[in-house]
Amino acid sequence: MPVFRTIRETHDAFDARKISPSELTKEYLDAIEKSDLNTFITVCKDRVMAQAQHADSIFLKHGKVPREQSPLFGIPLGIKDVLTLEGVRTTCASKILENYIPPYTATAVERLEKAGALSLGKLNMDEFAMGSSNENSAYGAVKHPTHYDRVPGGSSGASAAAVKAGLCVASLGTDTGGSVRLPASYCGLVGVKPTYGRISRYGLIAFASSLDQVGTLSNTVEDSALLLQTMSGHDPRDSTTAPAEKLNWAEQLRSLSKKDLNGLRIGVPKEYFGDGLQTEVASAVESTLKWCESKGAKRVEISLPHTRYSIATYYVVAVSEASSNLARFDGVRYGVRSKEAEEASDLATFYKKTRSLFGAEVKRRILLGTFALSSGYYEAYYLRACQVRRLIRKDFEDAFKKVDIIAAPVAPTTAFKRGEKVSDPLQMYLMDICTIPASLAGLPALSLPCGKDKEDLSIGLHLIGPHFGEGRLLETAHFIEKGRGHES
Ligand code: GLN
Repeated sequence: MPVFRTIRETHDAFDARKISPSELTKEYLDAIEKSDLNTFITVCKDRVMAQAQHADSIFLKHGKVPREQSPLFGIPLGIKDVLTLEGVRTTCASKILENYIPPYTATAVERLEKAGALSLGKLNMDEFAMGSSNENSAYGAVKHPTHYDRVPGGSSGASAAAVKAGLCVASLGTDTGGSVRLPASYCGLVGVKPTYGRISRYGLIAFASSLDQVGTLSNTVEDSALLLQTMSGHDPRDSTTAPAEKLNWAEQLRSLSKKDLNGLRIGVPKEYFGDGLQTEVASAVESTLKWCESKGAKRVEISLPHTRYSIATYYVVAVSEASSNLARFDGVRYGVRSKEAEEASDLATFYKKTRSLFGAEVKRRILLGTFALSSGYYEAYYLRACQVRRLIRKDFEDAFKKVDIIAAPVAPTTAFKRGEKVSDPLQMYLMDICTIPASLAGLPALSLPCGKDKEDLSIGLHLIGPHFGEGRLLETAHFIEKGRGHES
């Protein structure tokens, strides 16, 4: 198995001629083949080997890694199967897209490849990114990378499991209500969801458009910073993207000479430390906060009073948008047209045959969303949820007048057992209680390993920043990571 955990280590290994990009890629491909975690739906063997050989030839010409022009030179990545890659099957872990070959590449992936990254393949996930455990996949559940009877978290569970198991250097996930942060927390990785609008959603198959964001999973904060800055910036093909800024977070972290956290005000919201929080999670977060205080940070107790409406609000907004977005998978515009559908004698049967290819969770959400948006109910549900969403966002705006960042747990518990919550959707939805508010408010947030429970399962510290405040957020996380070591 490849032994380089980070982008920097990989580049140093290339420079020291310990390994070439194509040798490294081959090692990853072998490791993927041997793994039984079920992380990859599609491995792009030929495509990635061609990319790696091209990298070999560039390396030969330059004699060293061209870090300036290609900051991700020769870095093998995993891509969640919700992001398109031209000519490569993109399934969203659904039967309905089993044979979909997109004619274009997602902007986020395109920018990484332009910076030299290699795409090993498409990673398993919860179908259409709906779930918290990566058990809702038409291609089978994904195993936790170290505790095989546990879930890796969802919906980007495989994006986390693959990085932790050394099947890629880093990966892309997507976060609509916590799908990058939750798996990062369960698997002991850094997972970052940027500000809504920071990274283009072009080529990201939509679940809930007002919430979806591309995010990163990696072994270190520095790696996530590098990937995020490479992907971010305005994209004319996604009107919700913010204007491009010159970002150099990775370099800022590398040259960070900060010796303390003097002047940093950390808000601790009481609503995130209520009933149902595993004691070990609470104490790991507490001890990290104490450490931050010992380094000069100021702890400020805050309240985000509308937090308790978050889950209800999210599950109205997300299912409504999903029912609208997923209407296109009807076997006419998009989606498999099965033989049974072809043989249907009327339109209703044709639709039924096609749309019954969705899994149970996706069907549940389409039904709920269609109900919430049906005539006469729009004001009572979707509109009302949008109004409450505004209040949740305002809680954060008020808090950020007093504090620079907010710290909390990522999830109420550590990774649970496979099969434990699949039959109880409400229990599953509650796993997102800490991640959903920042999603509804469109804020940047990350998960950083901060300890383990007595079963040796990882615990994540949740840091949330103001809009476009990723710089401060990454810097703080990096400082804690360096000071406290990799507690994962
Ligand atoms: N677990 C949440 C859901 O099922 C969040 C999913 C996500 O962020 N994609 O909706």
